[in-house]
Amino acid sequence: MEPSHVHELLNGSSAADYADLLETTTGMLAARFAGVSQPFSGASRQELQRLVDATDLDGDGIGSEKAIRELDGLFLEHAVWFHDPAYVAHLNCPVALPAVAAEAVLAAVNTSVDTYDQSTVGTLIERRIVDWTAARIGFAHGDGVFTSGGTQSNLHAMLLAREWTLARHDGERADLLPRLNILATASSHFSVDKAALLFGLADDAVVTVPDDGEGRMDATALRATLGAIRRAGRIPMAIVATAGTTDRGVIDPVASIADAADAHGVWLHVDAAYGCGLLVSPTRRDLIDGIERARSVTVDFHKSFFQPVSSSAIMVRDAVDLAAGAWHADYLNPVANAEPNQVDKSLQTTRRFDALKLWTTLRALGAVRVGELFDRVVDLTAAVHDEIARDPELELVGRSQLSTVLFRAIPEGTDAATHDALVPRVRRVLFDSGRALVAKTVIDGRPCLKLTLLNPETTLDDIRAVLALVKDTALTLAGIGDELTTTEARA
Ligand SMILES: *Cc1c(COP(=O)(O)O)cnc(C)c1O
Repeated sequence: MEPSHVHELLNGSSAADYADLLETTTGMLAARFAGVSQPFSGASRQELQRLVDATDLDGDGIGSEKAIRELDGLFLEHAVWFHDPAYVAHLNCPVALPAVAAEAVLAAVNTSVDTYDQSTVGTLIERRIVDWTAARIGFAHGDGVFTSGGTQSNLHAMLLAREWTLARHDGERADLLPRLNILATASSHFSVDKAALLFGLADDAVVTVPDDGEGRMDATALRATLGAIRRAGRIPMAIVATAGTTDRGVIDPVASIADAADAHGVWLHVDAAYGCGLLVSPTRRDLIDGIERARSVTVDFHKSFFQPVSSSAIMVRDAVDLAAGAWHADYLNPVANAEPNQVDKSLQTTRRFDALKLWTTLRALGAVRVGELFDRVVDLTAAVHDEIARDPELELVGRSQLSTVLFRAIPEGTDAATHDALVPRVRRVLFDSGRALVAKTVIDGRPCLKLTLLNPETTLDDIRAVLALVKDTALTLAGIGDELTTTEARA
């Protein structure tokens, strides 16, 4: 059979079909967005498993139009909607409209930003966005590259820190590696520990620096820890400061940490995966003063810049530091090559052109507007803190500098053990209903509920409604007394 003009692939002859299919797709999505009334359908995992398993993947194709329409009942019906005001669980944001449109552009063109000959102007656009980010941080000679997320950015930063440190110490790599230490607080992201594991560092390579009791690194304790590491014959490889911890949403004192890092000649990495939105904040940029003294910075645009997943970057203060991760292949990017190949800077080879989304967002909204949107969620968070502090049925657990809310339901006449036991139960009941998605974590050894507010259109009343659901659920669960412990054992 003649294989041409069957329009399975996107090309010149299928351009009209492409437009029709995208119209169907966006129409279906628009109807969903207009109709969403809670963050999740509440379908059980068994029900979803049945739906997925019932789909035939080996039979004849049903055509693009039908395959797309089928997603409405299968996926969209049961997806988790981050834009719904009752979605307040994790660090997921509603996405900027121009970024979603740009995502359609990069998906269709399918640029890979590895070598210049695969991406041309795309490379230059990514480089311009990287330069823009460097300028916002305050890196005069900085550089960076887009990554798949904060986890990869942190991994990359630790790789550069390791090579930079090894280059400054005499001895064989194999002898030095087990002596390397990474200094971070207990609140730093677990991707730092994963990086240490991947690098084959010692089991005790990540050293916990004491905090100030509220999750922020204690800079005096940091100096003491650095001294102790040296005396033990170990080598500090990196200090990881967090600008926006995942749970408490607090910011390590970057400037005093940078003083200690400079005094000891240690690589300072600032993990601003969450707090990077402050780079464009019209009112709170000072919270990350000193970030320009880091050697590397992680930014997650898919958290506080309202970008679709994925959109992240690893940034360095000294452009030359990125060279430590460069490899060359004759078929791709030979050493003698004058072209600007982003693959020389990246841990990935084939790589998405995610920078286009932020580019389009900055052009469409302007940087100030993006910063104002992030400011709004931080303002809302302060109001929610006050609301909870005033409520006798709720207990506030610390205050975040960004947009997390840590709290417990404390129904009248119940004790602390019940409050702790209620945390996972309340979260599960709300999740199973699909009406509100909240998170849970452990702070100072005790469980608590967590809200992460990243939706600038969410109002205090929206959050009051979520808190009312939490209180009602806690009351009902506490009312069933003994059953609480038995159902919890099953959960
Ligand atoms: C979310 C987060 C990460 C990980 O980023 P991903 O994009 O999820 O890989 C790292 N560090 C901090 C502080 C984070 O909040």
